[in-house]
Amino acid sequence: MCVDKVIVPQHFSIDTDGFLRLPKMTPIKMVIHPEILGIPKNVTISKTPSGKYYASIVTEQDIPSAPLNGDKIGLDLGLKEFAITSKGEKFENPRYFQKSLRRLKIRQRRLSRKNKGSNNRSKSRLTVARIHEKVANQRQDSQHKISLKLTCENQAISVESLNIKSMVKDRKLAKQISDVAWGNFLTMLAYKGDIYGCEVHYVDRFFPSSKRCSNCCYIKQDLTLAIREWECPECKSFWDRDINAALNLMLLSESKIPLEEGKSTPDQLVARLGMSRDTGSGQEATGAA
Ligand SMILES: [Zn+2]
Repeated sequence: MCVDKVIVPQHFSIDTDGFLRLPKMTPIKMVIHPEILGIPKNVTISKTPSGKYYASIVTEQDIPSAPLNGDKIGLDLGLKEFAITSKGEKFENPRYFQKSLRRLKIRQRRLSRKNKGSNNRSKSRLTVARIHEKVANQRQDSQHKISLKLTCENQAISVESLNIKSMVKDRKLAKQISDVAWGNFLTMLAYKGDIYGCEVHYVDRFFPSSKRCSNCCYIKQDLTLAIREWECPECKSFWDRDINAALNLMLLSESKIPLEEGKSTPDQLVARLGMSRDTGSGQEATGAA
């Protein structure tokens, strides 16, 4: 998002009344959020395309790790629901970009009609930049909340290692996948996991997590994306497809599923399971590999 960035590694201070003092500059009044904890080490000043200035302050502090409650979960990421845990907790996909799309289209059309170099054009450009910024902020906020909750409440999370770049190549899904921003979320999960003492395990994305009954290993070959719930013909377990997938991810990372079943090249897996691989990657994108 940022167009300009300056790191100030030393000789800066933050006053108790909220003024930031930088070398050779008059003090700048800041709106501080959240509270600054620990010892400030450096500060990065950035400017967003909509003309706002931010100071991001790196601090050093000791964080007590979360209480050890031993909880482990599998986490299935999707487009319908953003994330589903093996305990059955669901986080909806907020689709922020999708929701702003109409407004964005109108504003972009207006921008395209303005004369180049005119004042009206730069005002219009600012309006478009503000919408993009709002979408990014909303997404950031909701992902921070979910990743914080999950890493604080659990000691281990197993999640699919997604190849997002190859998924985005699917033009039909590209916008939805960019909007859902799994990559950003996985980054948050990893660093928050480090802070709060929660291990994040990545599971091979070609593992048939949706098709496999997490109770008896039966592989349901005819499971299509439209089937949200199914009954295992072998052990009669009744599954919500996403919760079952999340459970499989957890079992695999705990090595309760034999390694040769979990780790294989895509072609080996296709050959062994007799699956026809969906080259459109639409299935993988919704966690139905
Ligand atoms: Zn079963």
